[in-house]
Amino acid sequence: MTEPPTHDEAHGGALGERLNWLRAAVLGANDGIVSTAGLVVGVAGATTDRSALLTAGLAGLLAGSMSMAAGEYVSVSTQRDSEKAALALERRELREQPEAELAELTELLEGRGLSREVAREAAVQLTARDALRAHARVELGIDPDALTNPWHAAWASFLAFTAGALLPLLAMVLPPAGWRVPVTVVSVLVALVFTGWTSARLGAAKPGRAVLRNVGGGALAMGVTYVAGTLLGAAGA
Ligand SMILES: [Zn+2]
Repeated sequence: MTEPPTHDEAHGGALGERLNWLRAAVLGANDGIVSTAGLVVGVAGATTDRSALLTAGLAGLLAGSMSMAAGEYVSVSTQRDSEKAALALERRELREQPEAELAELTELLEGRGLSREVAREAAVQLTARDALRAHARVELGIDPDALTNPWHAAWASFLAFTAGALLPLLAMVLPPAGWRVPVTVVSVLVALVFTGWTSARLGAAKPGRAVLRNVGGGALAMGVTYVAGTLLGAAGA
């Protein structure tokens, strides 16, 4: 399953945020490809009935995309709740003990490498401009104007998974019976090269091993379900 988009300090700011979203989308599509491919290849091991394949693939697509969306909604909502609670606490502390908060901000800035005097001056200026935002950023690592919307996250996961799942579904139901499994396997493996390479690049990792792992994982998923489907089909189950 995809990791929720987290704040990546290495990239920093809006660009990092956007790269994380993009990476989450690629990983969501990857999930859709692998799980749906495993499903339809498994069913194809047992039957050549196109409507059975279509039903299984479509059910897998919907179940997977909705489960991803629900999981994302819950996890982002929880994160947002705890960020809001932290901001509310910060707001109260700023109101009730502004001097202690100024000292705290000064210390945090000093800890980031500023001299005592400069840190103090910076803390005074930041507090005068927007005390809550300064504390949110420096102390909590939150941008109070850019809390992630759980509905956006849920929709993004739903769409990413669906886009990925459509590939093996169409590759399985469009070709004639004898071509279905080979066409699906080849197109899935090619797609996994692409998603593995892209997500590694977006995560600033070397793509070679990531591609091998990703393709290997997909091949394993399809191999296992195909054998299981074939055995069940042969047993007349
Ligand atoms: Zn504070």
